[in-house]
Amino acid sequence: MRVSTATTSCSDSHVFTVVVQGYGSAQESNAERSISVPFSRLQSLMQSISQLGGKVISVTAASDASAAPAAPAAPAAAKKATPTKAPAKPAAAAVHHADVPVNLYKPKTPFIGTVTENYSLLAEGAIGRVNHITFDLSGGDPHLRYVEGQSIGIIPDGEDANGKPHKLRLYSIASTRHGDDMADNTVSLCVRQLQYEKDGETINGVCSTFLCDIEPGAKVKITGPVGKEMLLPDDEDANVIMLATGTGIAPMRTYLRRMFEPTEREKNGWHFKGKAWLFMGAPTTANLLYDDDFNRYASEFPENFRYTKAISREQQNANGGRMYIQDRVSENAEEIFSWIENPKTHVYMCGLRGMEPGIDEAMTAAAAAKGLAWHELRPQLKKAERWHVETY
Ligand SMILES: Cc1cc2nc3c(=O)[nH]c(=O)nc-3n(C[C@H](O)[C@H](O)[C@H](O)COP(=O)(O)OP(=O)(O)OC[C@H]3O[C@@H](n4cnc5c(N)ncnc54)[C@H](O)[C@@H]3O)c2cc1C
Repeated sequence: MRVSTATTSCSDSHVFTVVVQGYGSAQESNAERSISVPFSRLQSLMQSISQLGGKVISVTAASDASAAPAAPAAPAAAKKATPTKAPAKPAAAAVHHADVPVNLYKPKTPFIGTVTENYSLLAEGAIGRVNHITFDLSGGDPHLRYVEGQSIGIIPDGEDANGKPHKLRLYSIASTRHGDDMADNTVSLCVRQLQYEKDGETINGVCSTFLCDIEPGAKVKITGPVGKEMLLPDDEDANVIMLATGTGIAPMRTYLRRMFEPTEREKNGWHFKGKAWLFMGAPTTANLLYDDDFNRYASEFPENFRYTKAISREQQNANGGRMYIQDRVSENAEEIFSWIENPKTHVYMCGLRGMEPGIDEAMTAAAAAKGLAWHELRPQLKKAERWHVETY
């Protein structure tokens, strides 16, 4: 297993210096030596070092003065790797992030958007209430632009129990930067109404109920956009694994529209050639969100898109229990790990915070089957900006 700290857009213009012990002419003496290689030869050098029993001391990008930790070259090396310093911040990722709009509108001076659509995403017999809500953003100065993977804030009308205006709530954006109608002036959300029982009474969440009930034409206070954790790589050859439960599908919908929706591809000029794999968890089939679109992408792009569903109240896992997303991860662990070995693969997780321990458990077991320690690999993927989590 290799866990590379390389980003998807490293090219041969990036030269790396690898400091190695007990390799080549230094093999017998256990002395250290430095080897400079272009990015294209980095992986094969690491393999060769591993095969010949050398030990990688550090890997440094030529443009960066600080030593990056060794990228493990093989399972044994991965287990032993003990980074002494944080990996160099990948230059390509910084460039990618530079153009991302943040906080164009703040809570004191929010943008006032107009609701254009609000409809249920659920089929007959579903549990709860989940709506797709679209806002017109035209007329803003500056224009409220955003990119895939960001969130916006909504300030619901009314006041809290202390007579103060409500605080904003964040929602992941569910539309691409071009909007569902490709007119570059709308934003869509996917909102689940929060409802719970307390002392025999049903409590409705303030903002989620405000949004699910809102009518077209209504004016809404919008802030943001915010967030750089869930951005897509620029690379058209990237591979993307998506783990979503419930409304955690919102950012995944933006990625998949950007990748596979014909009108989007035409407009965005980003012709995704990598592989995408969506794992979606829902309680019932009727609760699957945007399911028709994803089924269509899977049939139109069978080489590029896989769609795996975990429907907890209808499907059984290998032990006869309910089928959760982590069970699907366990079932496909071998393949997921082989994807992750590729430095072009990014993993995105979004949904309720409660999904994280289950996924971690599944990844830990899968890694252990390969003789690897997930608690060591995950931070390496995170540092390489290939492991993206937004849970709430
Ligand atoms: C980055 C980010 C992205 C998000 N994206 C989305 C999204 O795409 N879609 C979406 O629907 N939501 C999303 N959320 C969640 C959203 O921000 C709100 O938290 C959610 O809609 C609830 O807000 P509310 O005003 O309806 O609830 P509130 O009125 O604020 O009530 C929430 C409070 O109720 C209490 N509570 C909740 N459940 C229970 C319970 N079972 N028992 C007792 N008390 C309870 C807790 O104190 C909780 O803080 C996101 C959150 C973040 C941070």
